[in-house]
Amino acid sequence: MLSEFDIIQRYFIRSAPHVVLGIGDDAALIRPPSGMELAISTDMLVSGQHFFSDADPHKLGHKSLAVNLSDMAAMGATPRWVMLSLALPEPMARENDKWLQSFADGFFDLAHAHQVELIGGDTTRGPLNICVTIIGEVGKGKALRRSGARPGDDIWISGHLGDAALALAHQQRRIVLETGDMEECLSALHTPTPRVALGQRLIGLAHSAIDISDGLLADLEHILKRSNVAAVIRMDEINCSASVKKYLPHPVAIQCLLAGGDDYELCFTAPQGKRAKIEMLSREQEIPLTRIGDIHEGGGLVVLDATGRAITLETTGYDHFRTG
Ligand code: ADP
Ligand code: MG
Repeated sequence: MLSEFDIIQRYFIRSAPHVVLGIGDDAALIRPPSGMELAISTDMLVSGQHFFSDADPHKLGHKSLAVNLSDMAAMGATPRWVMLSLALPEPMARENDKWLQSFADGFFDLAHAHQVELIGGDTTRGPLNICVTIIGEVGKGKALRRSGARPGDDIWISGHLGDAALALAHQQRRIVLETGDMEECLSALHTPTPRVALGQRLIGLAHSAIDISDGLLADLEHILKRSNVAAVIRMDEINCSASVKKYLPHPVAIQCLLAGGDDYELCFTAPQGKRAKIEMLSREQEIPLTRIGDIHEGGGLVVLDATGRAITLETTGYDHFRTG
């Protein structure tokens, strides 16, 4: 059995040149550049709740960092440092077990791609639980907030929605996907791409932003509530993959598209005057950016179908504490 110290030493100490003091003391020390604010966020992934207990550790390493990078993207922040806290069941801490190596590889592949440094964490025995805290930087007063949407703004989304939720629906036997579609959707579920560069480029263009982790409707509602505004969106304008399109208008596919979650795309609002610049940004970054509706005065969210009729959904998104 590896000790806590062995685990840290063997799997998690990597070079971290942009830190005053990294792993090994009671706390890490970082020096934020002057004129910048720190953006700090935590996300926890719990076995049985966010992933199946036999999930591929390499993909889990990727995803546990990706969901945190996505929060930085939504703020327009540049991710710099991460802390990793792990509760590990005994078998995964055995000398010859491959789980930790594979998890660390998935984690660090993505960390290196974003030049993010691991500067500390905690390691303990227990039911598998992965908690990542991320620290980024953003120009003073520049961060994209949920509270900035204004009447007249367009509502935009990046990429396409629904794939990850459709994969989960297939695993839960709520819908049956063809093999090719399932593979595409599963990769969206297990290895999401956080829109970090896009988020940074939206500073100066977007009035508000959020990342879509709980489902488009639920996350857009957060913008509306924080901004004290209303919205109308058109379902047929929401960009979805060929896979999702194939299963529409199956009610499960509609649910996945509007309220599925785990997309890790950005939803943002911007004044109409920025349309040309946003379309240019879309071409430059090779990420589809689609206008799906607009912000109005008042409160509430209306979703229109292709004929202009309002759609009602049973649930608007994922809520861990909802019962029934
Ligand atoms: P303490 O007893 O003060 O909590 P630990 O012995 O838990 O310190 O941790 C020793 C060092 O290793 C600290 O710098 C801590 O941040 C780091 N560390 C512990 N677990 C991890 C991990 N999973 N990944 C990265 N660093 C870790
Ligand atoms: Mg500790």
